[in-house]
Amino acid sequence: MTTTEYRGRFAPSPTGPLHFGSLVTALASFLEARTRKGKWLVRIEDLDPLRESPEATDRILKSLEAHSLHWDEGVRYQSARLEIYHTVADDLVSSGFAYRCGCSRSELRANDGHHPFHCREGGEAPPDRPVATRFALTDEVFSWRDRILGPQQQVVQGMRNDPVILRKEGFVAYQLAVVVDDVDQSISDIVRGSDLLETTAQQQQIYRALGATPPSRAHIPVVLNRQGQKLSKQNHAPALDDTHPGRNLWDALVTLGQQPPTELRDAPADLLLSWADEAWDLTLLPRSNSHAPEYAT
Ligand code: GLU
Repeated sequence: MTTTEYRGRFAPSPTGPLHFGSLVTALASFLEARTRKGKWLVRIEDLDPLRESPEATDRILKSLEAHSLHWDEGVRYQSARLEIYHTVADDLVSSGFAYRCGCSRSELRANDGHHPFHCREGGEAPPDRPVATRFALTDEVFSWRDRILGPQQQVVQGMRNDPVILRKEGFVAYQLAVVVDDVDQSISDIVRGSDLLETTAQQQQIYRALGATPPSRAHIPVVLNRQGQKLSKQNHAPALDDTHPGRNLWDALVTLGQQPPTELRDAPADLLLSWADEAWDLTLLPRSNSHAPEYAT
């Protein structure tokens, strides 16, 4: 594989079935990979068994297939890679990029982000305390160009923002696993929802700590419901109706600023995707949040 090969991915957390907002994200990352003659991978980010289920994973994969969004390599499950994330976290601790922390959230809040047990400087909490692992951020103003949103800047504050990478309950946190897998799967381009924009600067520091080249990034404006909230399971977004892939895809293309011909609404998914293969243009994407069709909210 050469380093210039385009490799994109769709990486849902299986907290529920796909909804219209997740279809928009999946479709954008799929079309970007297809039109750049690259690979499109699906990775199930199933790190939190308390919020996620195998049933949701099944439904997500079936929904993608019903919309003809076929992935190029075997599906990766993060739940099968816990040992690897733990090893990386331990290595980050050994090399000084991460530290064990026994402070509670309320203690950190009460101390303006300072650790009462001085964890970052090697201090230790009393032994009866559950211990999380945090990544030690460096103070930085990080600037980059997002492929959809344009120039971006984020302020990173060491210590105050240090993200948990292994949770006290033993679960692996998204911030670590997402970077480990994007590196391991040689992802060259990330296309995802702009609700994750704010994670970028911290992830950039984790890439550096791992000695890896960060991917390019494109953040898609969020799809809102009638109340102006992001479509999500928490906001009761309905599951995609897999019996209408052509309508869903047509509406998703319109949400993405593309102009599919009216006569293709409800056409077979493959036909719509062939049209999109030719017409897809990332520069047409809206820069601000848009509303979902009525049936999808
Ligand atoms: N698993 C994340 C989510 O479902 C997405 C991760 C990413 O695209 O970086 O929100």
